[in-house]
Amino acid sequence: MQNFFSFFLILSFQLLVSQQNPPNIILMIGDGMGLSQISTGMYANGNKTILEEFEYVGLSKTHSLDYLITDSAASGTAMASGVKTLNRTVGIDENKNKQKSILEICKEKDFNVGLVVTSEIVHATPACFYANVPSRYDYEDIALQLSEHSVDLFVGGGEDYFNKRKDKRNLLEEMSGYTFVNSLEEFNKTKSKKIGFFTYPGEPPPKNLGRGPSLESLTEISLNKLSKDKSFFIMVEGSQIDWGGHDNSLNYVLSEFKEFDLAIAKALEFAKADGNTLVIVTADHETGGMALSGGNVKRSRVRADFTSGSHTGTMVPVFSYGPYSNLFRGIYDNTAIFDKMLTAINGER
Ligand code: MG
Ligand code: ZN
Repeated sequence: MQNFFSFFLILSFQLLVSQQNPPNIILMIGDGMGLSQISTGMYANGNKTILEEFEYVGLSKTHSLDYLITDSAASGTAMASGVKTLNRTVGIDENKNKQKSILEICKEKDFNVGLVVTSEIVHATPACFYANVPSRYDYEDIALQLSEHSVDLFVGGGEDYFNKRKDKRNLLEEMSGYTFVNSLEEFNKTKSKKIGFFTYPGEPPPKNLGRGPSLESLTEISLNKLSKDKSFFIMVEGSQIDWGGHDNSLNYVLSEFKEFDLAIAKALEFAKADGNTLVIVTADHETGGMALSGGNVKRSRVRADFTSGSHTGTMVPVFSYGPYSNLFRGIYDNTAIFDKMLTAINGER
C-alpha cells in the first residue's frame, strides 16, 4: 500500500516537472572579458564579484573557423547559432548559409526576446542574434534586418543607422509596431509589447566618460518587461570591456567591468527569485593579453600589463546559475554554449 502511494507521488511530481515552462535564459556576454579582466575588476572592487555566487564554471575555446584569434562576429555567431565561422561574418557559415540564432529559436517557441547592449545595437555581438551578413561592418544592412525582425525589446546606441541612411529610408517610421522611448523613465513606464530604446545616436561613450543609463537599471527593467507573460530570452552585453582592452587602459576595463558586474547582480537576483531562469555569463574572447601584475588586496589596488592591442586566444570562463547550469561545466568550444542553451529550452536532459 505504501509503495502504491509513493508510486503516485512520484508520478504526480513528474507530471508537475514536465508541465513546467521551459526556463528563461539570460545570456550575459562581457566582450573581451578574460580572467584578468575579471580578476582585476574583483580586486579593485574590494576583492569581490557577483560571479562568486554562480553555481558552475566552465571554459570556452574561442578560436574561429579561419583564425586562432577570433573577432566578436565569429565568436558571437558561434554562441548565438552553434557554428564556427569566418572572422567578420555575422550569422552565416563559411558557405554563406544563414544560421538561425538561439534568440530566433526562442521566438519560434513563443518566448519574449530582448537585447541590451552598451555599444551600438548594430555592433557585431548583438547583430549575431538577429542578422545574417557577410561583413559585420554592413551596419545599415544590419539595421534594416533588425527593423524587419521580431525582437521584442532592444536597447543600445546607433539610431543614426536607422534614420540617417544612405538609402534615405527612415526605419523608425517603418517599424510601426514599436514604441521608441528616449529615457529610462519612459522605458520603465511604457506598456508597449515592442520597445526600442536608442541610448545614443552613434556609439555610446565609455562609462567613465558618463555613459547612461546604467546597464544595471536597463537590465532590471528589461527583465521585468520580458518576464510579464511568458518565458523569455535576453542577451545583455558589457560591450566596452573589449574597448578598454584594445586601448590597454586598466581604468577603462575596470569601469566597464564594474558596471557589467552590477548588471549581472540584477540578473542573478531575478533568477534566484524566479527559480526557473538560467543565467550564463561568458565572453567572446579575451582582449589585450591582459595580466594582473601587481597591487594590494586591502587597498583594492591593482596594476595590469597588456601584451596586445587586439584580441588573444586564451580560453574564457563561462559562469552558470539555475536550471541546466550543470551543463556548462568543463572545457568546450564556444559553439557548445548554443547547444547547451538549446538543450535547456527543449527541456532535454
Ligand atoms: Mg561586442
Ligand atoms: Zn575587440
